[in-house]
Amino acid sequence: MTLKLESKFGKYGGQFVPEVLMPALVELTEYYEKYKDDAVFNDELNHYLRDFAGRPSPLYFAKRLSREYGVKIYLKREDLIHGGAHKLNNTLGQGLLAKYMGKKRIIAETGAGQHGTACAMAGAAFDIKTEVYMGAKDTVRQRMNVYRMELMGTKVIPVKSGSQTLKDAINEAMRDWVANVETTHYMIGSVVGPHPFPTMVRDFQSVIGKEVRTQILEKEGRFPDSIVACTGGGSNAMGIFHPFIEEDVDLFAVEAGGSGMKTTEKEALHSATLCTGEDGILHGMRTKVLQNKYGQILESSSIAAGLDYAGVGPELAYLADIGRLKPCNSMDSEALLAFHDLCRFEGIIPALESSHAVAYVKRAAASGELGDIVVINISGRGDKDLETVMGMRK
Ligand SMILES: *Cc1c(COP(=O)(O)O)cnc(C)c1O
Repeated sequence: MTLKLESKFGKYGGQFVPEVLMPALVELTEYYEKYKDDAVFNDELNHYLRDFAGRPSPLYFAKRLSREYGVKIYLKREDLIHGGAHKLNNTLGQGLLAKYMGKKRIIAETGAGQHGTACAMAGAAFDIKTEVYMGAKDTVRQRMNVYRMELMGTKVIPVKSGSQTLKDAINEAMRDWVANVETTHYMIGSVVGPHPFPTMVRDFQSVIGKEVRTQILEKEGRFPDSIVACTGGGSNAMGIFHPFIEEDVDLFAVEAGGSGMKTTEKEALHSATLCTGEDGILHGMRTKVLQNKYGQILESSSIAAGLDYAGVGPELAYLADIGRLKPCNSMDSEALLAFHDLCRFEGIIPALESSHAVAYVKRAAASGELGDIVVINISGRGDKDLETVMGMRK
């Protein structure tokens, strides 16, 4: 008997794809159901998570930041995972599943190159040919990530259509998948896309929250009052939230509030999809979307490339609707200040994405909204952001 997976979250989720992709989604769902609780699969995955990725990541008591912000703060150190972010948890899971499915090839899309790099690592580890679509403009802006992927044997395909950025890369990757479904696994990088991706990626990322459960009980003898995570597509947030959904713990999803500067009508002010998006269909799912009154997708904007997404995972949209998580946001300027706080007080250089979560804690701690003990998911390290930060200080 196969287990029934969640394919919808309230009115969100589902499979809004061309008919030709349905067999691939059905096949992927069947394999995922078959292996998700399989002992051999999980032993092998745990081996890679431990010895290749470096799990478990520590839960670190941030003593000086706690004193500064006035609340007891623990940092979940996903910045210490191989590759410098939580993204590898997902690509190892999907990469291993692709191997069990007998797929000969992995494709993916990447914006700034973080997900592409995590795919390249998994592709090399599992010896599966890996090709990554990337907007031509992004390949120039992110030359080092292109080189990193190539070093690990991945082919990077520049996409010259449209605006030559992430959304064009997604379109190309989809087209490729339609043409090559039998041999190819499409590796989506967050809790987005058609079912089973939002559920499957959440499960692979839930290793973060499962570890926090054990670690916080060892340190505090109880669960935290609140958990705060930055939210682009929502995978690091769902990964740390999911094991706490049934517990009495408040969950805060921090989106990018952008610069607050006036933008063109094709651009949103921010990428705060949960806070201000409207119901729509994007990338094969029904979710909250940044769109104009004609339903056209707006280009989002943030100093943190990983938060720059016009949609959000359907499960987050649902949890926000029913009031189980609180959507909130931090501005670019607040994230930058929090970035410097974590550098100076703790000797940890966080990703600009993660800095949004830290910034929210700084703002909310004063009101008492977070309770006494808070866990912040430090989704990644900030080495990739140093040029951006240096540019802002001028
Ligand atoms: C990609 C990325 C994010 C955003 O992705 P989610 O799916 O929302 O987690 C956040 N932080 C870092 C460091 C990233 O690389």
